Amino acid sequence: MVAGGAGFLGYHVSKRLLDEGFEVYVVDNYETGTRQNTRDLAEAGAEIVVHDICEPLHIAGDIDYVLNLACPASPVDFDRLPLEIMRTCSLGTTMLLELSRAHQATFLQASTSEVYGDPEVHPQREDYCGNVNIAGPRAVYDEGKRYAETLCHTYHRHHNAEVRIVRIFNTYGPRMRPDDGRVVSNFCVQALSGEPLTLYGGGEQTRSFCYCSDLIDGIYRLLLSDYTQPCNMGNPSEISMRELAEIIIELAGSTSELKVVPALHADDPKRRRPDISRAREILNWQPQVSLQDGLSKTLDWFAEQLSE
Ligand code: NAD
Ligand code: UDP
Repeated sequence: MVAGGAGFLGYHVSKRLLDEGFEVYVVDNYETGTRQNTRDLAEAGAEIVVHDICEPLHIAGDIDYVLNLACPASPVDFDRLPLEIMRTCSLGTTMLLELSRAHQATFLQASTSEVYGDPEVHPQREDYCGNVNIAGPRAVYDEGKRYAETLCHTYHRHHNAEVRIVRIFNTYGPRMRPDDGRVVSNFCVQALSGEPLTLYGGGEQTRSFCYCSDLIDGIYRLLLSDYTQPCNMGNPSEISMRELAEIIIELAGSTSELKVVPALHADDPKRRRPDISRAREILNWQPQVSLQDGLSKTLDWFAEQLSE
């Protein structure tokens, strides 16, 4: 069962599981997901269940794995859907852990690099406890995801639950929504439309971008492993938002300019890069797709979306 399967990463993980021969239930309430994704997954054999994970869910068949990717994930949603995010991370994750318990299923939680907040340690290793501003606008997501991780540890400790926790660093690729609001979708759409690329707060802040197929491969390996502690997944190659904008303009053959605009949130993390030693050692995993190749495929996707 994949919760959040109508979304960007949920689509890709569901498709990979179908391709591997699993039967897949996709559970989603379309908060930020699309019917295009569930239509394509249904065609590939998935069963679609329209459902808010904050409500109890009973599934009659056997379930071996529950993957929780349900949660709005774009920083614009932190202002638009703050209470929904907190409920989904807390109540929703509890409901799915209970469902896993009833089925004795392995539970995988899509956690995030945001558990490190605006990190004071660089790059970020899993044993770093983070620097989250509890009162800041990003806290609904950051603290929600931290709470969800704690739920996983608690179910593991007290109910012997099989849990897997993946801390996902910025991941991009086809199936992102053009109006998602995150940087890669914004820059691709702006470059393809000839509009200025919006650098929030100056563009010197850094991120490390992972192409979706690499991440999904890591998630699949973690799911089938027996590793119960958090595991970072991302591409350790770090760039500034200004550099990212310049690369996208060049790849798109665009005449767009750069435009500095105010940051969305005052506590926007300044630097972010995963230490992926753990994933390398335990799962023999590391990203394979270069930023240029991944962005080219992503630009093709957005060009197709814009032409429709
Ligand atoms: P997305 O917004 O495309 O997908 C989220 C999906 O969850 C959507 O289909 C949405 O409709 C669904 N959803 C939200 N609330 C729900 C609820 N209460 N009940 C049922 N469905 C609900 O985002 P994404 O980028 O695909 O992210 C998927 C997961 O991965 C999220 O949990 C996110 O926090 C995590 N993550 C993503 C990234 C990234 O870079 N993409 C980074 C870190 C963590
Ligand atoms: N950003 C930007 N322009 C945009 C959207 C985002 O400069 O149009 C910046 C944002 O301020 C952040 C980085 O890009 O520093 C990554 O933002 P995103 O929303 O993709 O994800 P985050 O890593 O903040 O969760």
